[in-house]
Amino acid sequence: MKIKCPKCKETAELTSDFSLVRCHSCHLELSYGEYVKFVAHADATYSDILGDYTGSTEGESAGTLDDWDKDSG
Ligand SMILES: [Zn+2]
Repeated sequence: MKIKCPKCKETAELTSDFSLVRCHSCHLELSYGEYVKFVAHADATYSDILGDYTGSTEGESAGTLDDWDKDSG
């Protein structure tokens, strides 16, 4: 099954038994558990970065991550 690589944002592949995530683009290879942790960490990092960038990168490719909370006050 295709998923998004947490590292290079290209298409990675998750094995059908959910045991391994593999990215052909950056050769990332990690267990699904590690992948989840990776994504969770990356997501937190994005939120942090976005706080700084809000207002300066308006209209930039925001199509893939709709969960952003732009209401940072
Ligand atoms: Zn990758």
